[in-house]
Amino acid sequence: MKKIVLSVIGLALFATACNTSKEPKRDMSNPFFGEYNTPFQVPPFNEIKLEHFMPAIDAGIEEQLTEIKAITDNKEEPSFDNTMLAFDQSGELLRKASIFSTLKSANTNDEMQALAREITPKMSAHRDNIMLNKELFARVKAVYEKRNELNLNAEQLRVVEKYYQDFERNGANLSDEQQAELRKMNDELSMLSLQFGENMLAETNKNFKMVVENEADLKGLPSDVITAAAEQAKKDSMEGKWIFTLQKPSMLPFLQYAEKRELREKLYKGYIGRGNNNNANDNKEIIGKMITLRDKRAKLLGFNNFAAYSVDINMAETPENINNFLMKLWTSALERAKVERADMQAMINKEGGNFKLESWDWWYYAEKVRKAKYDLDEAQIKPYFKLENVVDGMIYVASKLYGVQFIKRDDIPVYHEEVIAYEVQEADGKHIGVFYMDYHPRPGKNNGAWCTNYRGQSYENGQRITPVVSVVCNFTRPAGDVPALLSYEEVTTLFHEAGHAFHTLFADGPYRRTSREVARDFVELPSQIMEHWASEPEVLRVYAKHYQTGEVIPEALITKLTKSAQFNQGFETVEYLAAALLDMDLHTQPFNGDVEASEKASMNKIGLIDEIVPRYRSTYFSHIFSGGYSAGYYVYIWAAVLDADAFDAFKQSGNIFNPEYAAKFRTLLTKCGTDDGMVIYKNFRGQEPSIEPLLKNRGLK
Ligand SMILES: [Zn+2]
Repeated sequence: MKKIVLSVIGLALFATACNTSKEPKRDMSNPFFGEYNTPFQVPPFNEIKLEHFMPAIDAGIEEQLTEIKAITDNKEEPSFDNTMLAFDQSGELLRKASIFSTLKSANTNDEMQALAREITPKMSAHRDNIMLNKELFARVKAVYEKRNELNLNAEQLRVVEKYYQDFERNGANLSDEQQAELRKMNDELSMLSLQFGENMLAETNKNFKMVVENEADLKGLPSDVITAAAEQAKKDSMEGKWIFTLQKPSMLPFLQYAEKRELREKLYKGYIGRGNNNNANDNKEIIGKMITLRDKRAKLLGFNNFAAYSVDINMAETPENINNFLMKLWTSALERAKVERADMQAMINKEGGNFKLESWDWWYYAEKVRKAKYDLDEAQIKPYFKLENVVDGMIYVASKLYGVQFIKRDDIPVYHEEVIAYEVQEADGKHIGVFYMDYHPRPGKNNGAWCTNYRGQSYENGQRITPVVSVVCNFTRPAGDVPALLSYEEVTTLFHEAGHAFHTLFADGPYRRTSREVARDFVELPSQIMEHWASEPEVLRVYAKHYQTGEVIPEALITKLTKSAQFNQGFETVEYLAAALLDMDLHTQPFNGDVEASEKASMNKIGLIDEIVPRYRSTYFSHIFSGGYSAGYYVYIWAAVLDADAFDAFKQSGNIFNPEYAAKFRTLLTKCGTDDGMVIYKNFRGQEPSIEPLLKNRGLK
């Protein structure tokens, strides 16, 4: 998963039954209550204990309510400074303590999960207590209504408009009775989403493992994959056997290479069955409740359905625009996927296999077809993608584009011993921020990859408070003597998440509400554009070096990689679009009470072929049920139009590091919250984006 950082509101404001009586005595041994004496004032992870969170969150809630009371008690006429700015700056302690949820995604345990069940409803209630605070809204509205007479600059004007919209969208204009109903729904939804995430964690990391006892069943697997499976078995006290899990670094190579077809089927069915096993971690009922509640909530707020509510503030504006856009790509992608299917079936027939291709065969035969067509397989390129070398490549690109430098620092506290901390500096040594990297799977880590932050940028007394950003992945681990060798997908994922990190690191503005906040369908532009550099021959020659010999990737291999760039793009696009369309259907169509049946109906409607399963099925669609992408999974391909077009500008100029475009793109990253996405984009590009580069890249013309 590639995840956005939570919205300002989501991150900054949290929740409770309000009681603004006198401040209780604070336990000053709780690090959240003091200044951080760490390099760049990063959170002192080594001092923060589980028992520190709740008191800090409670105090943070109180403190923010006191700050808000000071705004509403102000006898002066509502102004930008005494209302908007004061509100924008409120909630500092709560922001500090809210690293709880950031940590929980990357490094949880049973105690944290239990604590999350206490914290979540408090946060939800606190958010409502702010958004539904009548006195506060009256002042926000007063400023909003006279905003054009206040001599505000463009950014301040946007701050006013965005905050007014936030209140409106969170029910400030509803009647008391409706607001009471809304509070109940918000509370219920927050807990359902939490439960969905917990179930996913259990279903991915605990409830399934495939134990292989017979060495012959490993036939076809590369030796590093076998070593990793043996190490997993040893960890699970089954030395001498091999264990494969539903975590991608374990599952995908098995699907790609294992000759034993029944075992590929078993593993794949384990994966696509997650959340749908009628056990304690089943997600079907939760999904039913969530989509019903979301629909009711959207209607209460004056929209036809949840998707209409959700995308109203996005570049796409309406579900119809999104569906039309997705369907425009669907037909040609499906055609291509059918051609790919035929190639694979031909391969099966040629080998004398007397069976029809199934979904669990796709990776295995795709690999074979790639070998036959391009004389290329993943095992050939992996030795050139040692994790550390790929990181060097990403840093090289960042420094060529933006002149930044990465300095590895052992003195910066980290939240887990495997995490690596960098200081990011300008070319002249000026501090930009701190960048954590956390690469490998652990039982307490959500699956997927994401970028998040432990502190966003802000200004305090004219001084910039610098960001602390974190990239969390689930990449292949080193195994035996072999270092972590990444798959090509992992390579691009690393560049992608780093792109999100640069968005956060470069953001620079006086107001939290506009400093890095962008529409959800803009947010994958900063990340996805970085993927283009990862595969450029000029860049590969810098970082893709053999892990044993140090030899630079041979030109012949680069040529094969370039030639095979469109390989399997039918499949990739179809499995993605199927999930994006499923998300839109779930959030626009009336729910018939049966999750599986409605998913099937959606897929039949678009003619999805049996050999492809949507990239996420409903019961493990974390993006939309616990990850902030509800009615928003489409954003990746929406933004892909932008990133393909933006990178095309570099490419067409004849210099993929064109300094003029690089400077403009950095400005886009620095200022992208200050205006609508299309305006910001056109400032960079000088024109509207074209869909042609995307179609060309994917061979979908
Ligand atoms: Zn992303």
